[in-house]
Amino acid sequence: MADKRDYYEILGVAKNATEDEIKKAYRKLAIKYHPDKNPGDKEAEEKFKEAAEAYSVLSDSEKRSRYDQFGHSGVDNSGFSASDINFNDIFSAFGDIFGGFGGFGGFSGQSRGPQRVARGGDLRATVTLTLKEVLEGTEKKLKIKKMVSCSQCHGAGTTEKEGRKTCPKCHGTGVITGVSNTVFGRMQTQTTCPQCKGEGTIITNPCSKCAGSGVERGEKVVQFKIPAGVRNGMQLTLHGEGNEAPRGGIPGDLYIVIQEQEDPILFRNGNDVVYNLLIPLHTAIEGGTVEVPTITGRARLTIKPGTQPNEVLRMRGKGIPDLNGYGVGDQVINVNVFIPTKLDEEDKKVVEELRQRPHFQPSEEDRSSLDKKWRKRMFG
Ligand SMILES: [Zn+2]
Ligand SMILES: [Zn+2]
Repeated sequence: MADKRDYYEILGVAKNATEDEIKKAYRKLAIKYHPDKNPGDKEAEEKFKEAAEAYSVLSDSEKRSRYDQFGHSGVDNSGFSASDINFNDIFSAFGDIFGGFGGFGGFSGQSRGPQRVARGGDLRATVTLTLKEVLEGTEKKLKIKKMVSCSQCHGAGTTEKEGRKTCPKCHGTGVITGVSNTVFGRMQTQTTCPQCKGEGTIITNPCSKCAGSGVERGEKVVQFKIPAGVRNGMQLTLHGEGNEAPRGGIPGDLYIVIQEQEDPILFRNGNDVVYNLLIPLHTAIEGGTVEVPTITGRARLTIKPGTQPNEVLRMRGKGIPDLNGYGVGDQVINVNVFIPTKLDEEDKKVVEELRQRPHFQPSEEDRSSLDKKWRKRMFG
């Protein structure tokens, strides 16, 4: 495979660009390099395809996160063609912008008739997950307040058979054709009919419940699965679970944003889970067994005699499974040795005795061995 350019670079956006910024950047490029505007220009066509590919990945939160982690190899786009993009999505987001270019005649994208189909708006909801839910994956139920099909007219906008008629302004085509001066020069334009909003028909006898809109406020319970290993800020898309659209239109999507609840004891670091363990001085000296909390319960851990402060122990595979199936993280135990700060007279006597004991004095060799361990941990 030839060297592929970075998708963010192609769209000219930052790595942390919002969905909106990505959409805007793509829209700009799509207009600039659209084949209808650059007939016979191979380079423009390549640029157009490149931007479409970049957009197909960066606009999909799941693909985007895989791309962020693994680059091009994380998203298999070897068989990509511009027709893989759901152009309806882009149309509905961009409104009329492509209208003036005669659609995507040169591409096999989904064809779009002149009459616009109504589309419900997208919705967003947040779910908060505990570390245990992140570890095991979970199923959630949410009650979503949204626009639903009108219960009286069932979305038709009217309850009468003859309640609609062909739009007199556009004669049912949904668009008004004209010529206008644009930034690209003089061109034929098609704008959405203002009277019927592109639907081709108008209501003569609106439904009394929804005033002809075809939708009303309602709520619906959605149930969905969340895979193990998700991260804070990730987004799941539930297609068609957004606002319903009138007149048999396309419902919007529901975006589920993942929020991780901070655990008071364990700290998530990537797919690892970190626990800061504090052991008494005598356990560090003599060794012993300690109990440590894990995400699902407790585990016993052996402390070797002569354990030094800042030693790191790993419980392999006791972390969080990778979302994309690349193994499982560890539970990392940072071992710290407790040095008492409050001493009574008896304690002071013990410390005084320790001060006399030669084995309690570190040598240069001891220091050097700690230094080696530290270097190995920090720099491998
Ligand atoms: Zn109604
Ligand atoms: Zn019309």
